[in-house]
Amino acid sequence: MAISVFDLFKIGIGPSSSHTVGPMRAAATFAQALREQGLLTRVTRVEVRLYGSLSATGVGHATDRACLLGLMGQWPDRIDPATIESRIGQVLQEHCLMLDGSHPLAFEYDRDMLLLDENLPYHPNAMRLEAMDGQGGLLRQTYYSVGGGFIVEQAEIDAPAAESNAVVLPYEFDSAAQLLALCKTHGLSVAQLMMANECAWRPEAEVREGLLRIWAAMRECVDNGLRNEGILPGGLHVKRRAARLHRSLQEIGKPNVIGSTLSAMEWVNLFALAVNEENAAGGRMVTAPTNGAAGIIPAVLHYYMKFNPSANDADVVDFLLGAAAVGILCKKNASISGAEVGCQGEVGSACSMAAAGLAQVLGATPPQLENAAEIALEHNLGLTCDPVGGLVQVPCIERNAIAAVKAINAVQMALRGDGEHFISLDRVIRTMRDTGADMHANYKETSRGGLAVAFVEC
Ligand code: SF4
Repeated sequence: MAISVFDLFKIGIGPSSSHTVGPMRAAATFAQALREQGLLTRVTRVEVRLYGSLSATGVGHATDRACLLGLMGQWPDRIDPATIESRIGQVLQEHCLMLDGSHPLAFEYDRDMLLLDENLPYHPNAMRLEAMDGQGGLLRQTYYSVGGGFIVEQAEIDAPAAESNAVVLPYEFDSAAQLLALCKTHGLSVAQLMMANECAWRPEAEVREGLLRIWAAMRECVDNGLRNEGILPGGLHVKRRAARLHRSLQEIGKPNVIGSTLSAMEWVNLFALAVNEENAAGGRMVTAPTNGAAGIIPAVLHYYMKFNPSANDADVVDFLLGAAAVGILCKKNASISGAEVGCQGEVGSACSMAAAGLAQVLGATPPQLENAAEIALEHNLGLTCDPVGGLVQVPCIERNAIAAVKAINAVQMALRGDGEHFISLDRVIRTMRDTGADMHANYKETSRGGLAVAFVEC
């Protein structure tokens, strides 16, 4: 299946793309199906069953709330985050859920929201929704949230859609080797090749406009993160620190040349912390390619845009296209889901994408870009997913800052070379896949291993 840059960068809400955005989209799709099939007004009860990782970390990642919002006909890209608390409060306190925003039905959380210690075979992030009337089942659907807000319905697995309807890209690639060969044969940069592919879906002007909208949402997220203070929700009592760090960096003054000083790294940290604190607070987000890892690409892009006097909108487009090329390779050949391959799939993929984006706008050749992405991913291999308390806070927030700095360093190293290197990006992505397959389930977004169990509250 062809993957667009807009599949990887999607506007949504925090704190998790796989556990919040995906389930909300699944539940909204379900409510829409009830309406379209004329079943809505017959429904007297809806049951939500969460399996695997969606159950294990579902409350901390707000999966249960996302399902309720989706059933109420809310979509992650359109909902006003400021309205979420009151909508959820109504369901929990008044036990009434407005199905698809129009049909009221009784909803008893303890009876109708089931967090099960079971797995379904296709993917660890599984959920089943069932609508019933007085006689029995009206509609039952199983969904898998496969990372980055992507959802797959059981029906698509049982009967895959005919390939004849698929978009045909001028430069289809399944590996970095193919990508580099296409760039060389056609004399294109990675961003130019990606733009040509995107134009299979929509005109270039729309692609540019859409990517600048994504950038605006990323900027807004950073601005919100720099303004909002206090304690993050969830019970861990994690203090937000981006606003305070921002004030202190403003006193020092901003670095004047990109890539030159350690103080620039502090600003990179700041941008990443701002995004991930917003994410943890359930704010408006852009998946990049997931929510847990959503701070890395905006942090590196902010670094480039804010401290490079000649940076412009065209650079934003090239950056995101370069990053997306690597995101496509990670998604196609391994995974961007922490529940599938651990945090290497989320933070590792985002770090590699950020390196590719920055390399692109700093004038890297395609082999240098591939080298930068490879260095960035290689040094995230084996990274486990072990969120404390099932919340996307510790270690996730700081981990984004560290990975953003790592991406910049990877680019610096790659730009000093000619693109020749020992291990290819394709091999590193394959290693990520194989390492993820070998990784114990405790380290794949279940909060049953690593830091999640090392933390003792006192
Ligand atoms: S540890 Fe990594 S993969 Fe797991 S929730 Fe945090 S950011 Fe996502």
